[in-house]
Amino acid sequence: MPRTLDPELRRALAARIRYYNEMGIYDFYRRPPSEHAGEVAALIAVDEAGTRILEHTLEPGEEMSPRKAAAVARPVAIHDDENIFEVIALKPEQSVGDPVKALKIIREDLGDCTRCVLHKQGRKQIVFGVGNPKAELMFVGEGPGADEDAQGEPFVGRAGQLLNNMIKAMGISREQVYIANIVKCRPPGNRTPEREECETCSPFLMRQIAVVKPKVVVALGAVAAKTLLAMSASMMQLRGRFYEFRPTGVRTNDPNWDGCKLAVTYHPAFLLRDPRQKGEAWKDLQMVMKELGLKAPKATT
Ligand code: SF4
Repeated sequence: MPRTLDPELRRALAARIRYYNEMGIYDFYRRPPSEHAGEVAALIAVDEAGTRILEHTLEPGEEMSPRKAAAVARPVAIHDDENIFEVIALKPEQSVGDPVKALKIIREDLGDCTRCVLHKQGRKQIVFGVGNPKAELMFVGEGPGADEDAQGEPFVGRAGQLLNNMIKAMGISREQVYIANIVKCRPPGNRTPEREECETCSPFLMRQIAVVKPKVVVALGAVAAKTLLAMSASMMQLRGRFYEFRPTGVRTNDPNWDGCKLAVTYHPAFLLRDPRQKGEAWKDLQMVMKELGLKAPKATT
């Protein structure tokens, strides 16, 4: 049941949130459940009383997780069609029209990031993302490998070569798409990133997606799919359909873009290990091509 807030309380909360936004705080989360946790009205009452101003305050070292943000954002429907946390989700780059500049703002915001343990586990550099800032198609992988870590660009190793071939087979070029990962630092030994690491890093990816505003996001592999969709399921269950996707924790302030479609396919690294699945991946990409009106190039003899 959506909660209904008194309009004055709502205005007061909005003003408070703007105040924190102006101080450079954009991400908020809900504390772990307790007797009153999760009751936004309780938060506002505290706020209005002038004590414990911000139950949702960020503490040093604490970060918003997409799931927590979603947990905050969803139940707080104010008047059926309004959501107070739309205000919370305003990001600095969203007042910038040029996507190149907007992405630069996100990169600057990320800084020399130490938000998760991956910063001290041997990364050479942060691998932010690459490609067309106005791409209609975006690929999201899991995290950088050794080659990506060395070059500072996602998907440049063997898996990257295969991804390039997949993109080419769709009748487009790598330069036309945008490519990024769930985590921006190489996990040691190419291990799978931990959930905590994904949740800490992915808010930046969500912001990148909201800037690029693609028509379709393709999640490469289970980690990308599960993080973006905030759901747990097998690849078999996740593939073969489109999902309606809206970047979590980000307000979409463009009347022409309120999210996009998301498809799931195998990670190219997995396809290198098990080439028999390439046919299945091609089916996924054909579904995406149909959505985007792309035609595979004619084979040359
Ligand atoms: S993986 Fe992401 S959150 Fe973790 S240190 Fe790197 S940039 Fe920061």
